[in-house]
Amino acid sequence: MRFTTLAVVVDNRAREGFRSCWGLSLLLTGDKTVLFDAGPSGEELLHNLSLYGQNPADIDLFFLSHSHVDHSGGLRALQDAGFTGDVIMCDRTLSSGDRERTAEQGLQQPGMGLIAIRLESGGLWEQSLLADTPVGRVLLVGCAHPGLKRIWEVACTQEIPFGVVGGFHDAEPFPDLGQARLLGPCHCTKQREAFRKDFPSSFLDLAAGDRIRLDSEAL
Ligand SMILES: [Zn+2]
Ligand SMILES: [Zn+2]
Repeated sequence: MRFTTLAVVVDNRAREGFRSCWGLSLLLTGDKTVLFDAGPSGEELLHNLSLYGQNPADIDLFFLSHSHVDHSGGLRALQDAGFTGDVIMCDRTLSSGDRERTAEQGLQQPGMGLIAIRLESGGLWEQSLLADTPVGRVLLVGCAHPGLKRIWEVACTQEIPFGVVGGFHDAEPFPDLGQARLLGPCHCTKQREAFRKDFPSSFLDLAAGDRIRLDSEAL
C-alpha cells in the first residue's frame, strides 16, 4: 500500500477559504486514505476536509499521534460525520469502541505501508507514523514531544525517510535532517525560521490547504 499525496487539513495557519486553528490534521491518500490526527474540533476538520472533496465515510483509517486535544478533539465529529474505519490509538489502554486498535494490532497486516514509532516523554506517549510513498518513506509527527531528533533517529534505523512533516515543537535544526528531501514544520513548531534558514532546499512553508504530491521526485 502506497500513498501518493499528503494534504494539510488542520493547522495553526490556513490558505484562503480554509479554516485555521491551533491543532494538526494531515490526510494521506493513495491506495488507501488515512487521516493522521483530527485537530481540536470537528468544525475546522469537517470544513477543510470538504474543501478537499474528502468524505469522512471514505477514510479507511484514523491514526492518533497523542492524546492532546488539539490532535484528538475532532475524532468524535469525524465519526458522527460517517467515518467508520479503524482508529489507531496511542495509549495501550483503550477507552472504548470496537474499532479502536493499538498500532501493534492495527498496522501489522503485511503490505500496510505504515509503521508507528511509539515513544514516551514525561509520562506522555506519542506515536509518529512512517508512510510508504513512491519517493520513499515520509515521517509524520504530531507535536514531537519525545524530541524530533529522537524520533528521527528511530525512523532512520529502518531507512532514511524522504521527508518529515508535522509539529516539531521546540526542536532546533540538527545536521542529520539534511538527509531529508522534504521538511514541512508546521503546527506547534517554534523554530520554523531556523529550519527554513538551515535547510532552504527541502523546507516547505505548509498551512492548511496545502497538498503535496509524493508520486514523483520533482517536488
Ligand atoms: Zn501535544
Ligand atoms: Zn499539538
